[in-house]
Amino acid sequence: MLQNRKDTLQKIGIDVYHHRKKDSEKNLNVDQPDVWEVLEKNVSSCQQCSLHESRTQTVFGVGDINADWLFIGEAPGKDEDIKGEPFVGRAGRLLNEIIFASGLSRESVFIANILKCRPPNNRDPKQEEVESCFVYLKKQIELINPKIIIAVGKIAAQQLLDTDQTMADLRGSIHSFGENNIPLVVIYHPAYLLRSPTQKSKVWSDILLAQDSIN
Ligand code: SF4
Repeated sequence: MLQNRKDTLQKIGIDVYHHRKKDSEKNLNVDQPDVWEVLEKNVSSCQQCSLHESRTQTVFGVGDINADWLFIGEAPGKDEDIKGEPFVGRAGRLLNEIIFASGLSRESVFIANILKCRPPNNRDPKQEEVESCFVYLKKQIELINPKIIIAVGKIAAQQLLDTDQTMADLRGSIHSFGENNIPLVVIYHPAYLLRSPTQKSKVWSDILLAQDSIN
């Protein structure tokens, strides 16, 4: 397993310097699946912002609702809008490899976005759209109660941390989210890594930082 992970890391261009022990303790806190289902249903019929007019479907999120690790991106793109699932396509496959290299699987984490509907032509989310949609993500975070949040990319990081700081300022540190001070680490978006593969090693060091923060 460890060798597989090492092979995967090397395949995606990350040199392995160090491996940290994974905390496999489960966080069985979602004892109200009905609340989760109601939330998902509300999102699927939501018309709180104009993005409902152009979406194919909402993208609620995928994974284990008892996950320790919660990955949050910006918004669905074209492939996600068609499939109804976050992080599919090339960038999604690279995120899967990063998750696997962290000793986890796509099924054992939860993956969501700030926005549940695709902005036309993949433009950046507008502030009013984020303000309309953020209530859903906040409820998801409350129900999942993860040990660590990974903000995937600049837009997600800026929205979650309510800042306009750059990625250079945001990555490489442990931040905290919400009243429960959930540790939050920022990583580069896999779409950016596909364009700038030399930055992949920084993602690995940020993942190690995230592992440290919960061990
Ligand atoms: S983006 Fe969010 S707030 Fe806007 S319509 Fe979709 S689910 Fe509702």
